[in-house]
Amino acid sequence: MSATGESVRIALPLPLDEIDDAAELIPEALVPAQAHKGGSGRIDESRMWGYEIQPDDTLTGIFTKLGLPIQDLYQVLEADENVLALDNIKPGVELLVDIENDQLQTLELRFSPAHKVAYQRKQDAGFEFKETILPGTWKEIALVGEIGRSFSLDAAAEGLDARDVHLITRLLKEKINFRRDIRKGDSFEVLLSRQYIEDEPTGETKIEAVRMLANRSPVSIFYYDGSYYDEKGRSLSKAFLRYPFGGSYRVSSGFNPKRHHPVTGLFRPHNGTDFSMRTGTPILASGDGVVSRVVDHKYAGLYVEIKHSERYTTRYLHLSKSMVRKGQRVSRGQKIALSGASGRVTGPHLHYEFHIAGRPVDAVKAAIPITKQLEGKSRKEFDALLRQYMARLDAPREQEGADEMLISRRQDQSMDNPSTL
Ligand SMILES: [Zn+2]
Repeated sequence: MSATGESVRIALPLPLDEIDDAAELIPEALVPAQAHKGGSGRIDESRMWGYEIQPDDTLTGIFTKLGLPIQDLYQVLEADENVLALDNIKPGVELLVDIENDQLQTLELRFSPAHKVAYQRKQDAGFEFKETILPGTWKEIALVGEIGRSFSLDAAAEGLDARDVHLITRLLKEKINFRRDIRKGDSFEVLLSRQYIEDEPTGETKIEAVRMLANRSPVSIFYYDGSYYDEKGRSLSKAFLRYPFGGSYRVSSGFNPKRHHPVTGLFRPHNGTDFSMRTGTPILASGDGVVSRVVDHKYAGLYVEIKHSERYTTRYLHLSKSMVRKGQRVSRGQKIALSGASGRVTGPHLHYEFHIAGRPVDAVKAAIPITKQLEGKSRKEFDALLRQYMARLDAPREQEGADEMLISRRQDQSMDNPSTL
């Protein structure tokens, strides 16, 4: 460890016993985390620090400020090739590091109280990652509002955050033109759940049902089994392609969430499917969505990630060229990239990942949405759920009088009363 840096945002951590008043010297953002719990090292040889990611932070910058060897960063990145969580660090994400004898022992990222990823030194050969996703408890809230100015302003006034408003607008955009079809006096009803971990909101929200009166015409959407449907069980999202390319290519390495490295024995799950193909093969978006990442990774190579909905994400690794940029809207079958052999590979191939609710699944076998209309057993389940949604949307209103829109009071009640959760 080298000298201190008082003026930098990521201050170099000092061992607590070298500081008279640690609280005064340590910038607010960089605070000692809980005491080291390991049995081997003495407390003065171990430093565990917490830091909140600031705009413009880079991993290299953080490692440099911590005085950690770049080799440690490479080893962490190598473990991260299988999860790619480090490419998702945004301002506000909490980072915890455990340094023992000038060596990184653990790096932990806390994306929310319900989601963290830890990279732990296993041996000189590298790190292993462990991802923790807590289910938490979900509290349901019913919101009702009347359009006075615009849907987004009135919805925000009723307690929906910008992300919820954006999601609802996007879901309903094929049914409602929010500029043209909304009239003063139209109304909306939203049933949503918010996630909590020990009473602390995680920021995760699920929109369960929306009913709107748009230009006096009713429009509704309902969440079922990961997707949204209208009241007749028709899917609002378009189906996916099973494979993100034309033609057929040999699977050179299948999905294997239990894989270990043959030499080091380190846990290295294969979260995707490798298709052997020559460099330059066109890669297609497997579904409609928005490009959420275009990243050049030391090990994963050039890769593209597409967010299709709150629930579905796909990744395309080892590309030679990307034809899309971050934030761009893409449609199913659109050419997004050319395959390649970038990153650490033994030969040119496409590594394709399909994630459902943040978890990788086998893209070749998983039940990915390909239906447009719910039928049979799933239609029966959907209809039963629909009746429940309707009852929960209607229930509070009946108690409070038919035409009253007493939203905030109802919101408070449902928050305090666990029986409505
Ligand atoms: Zn692969």
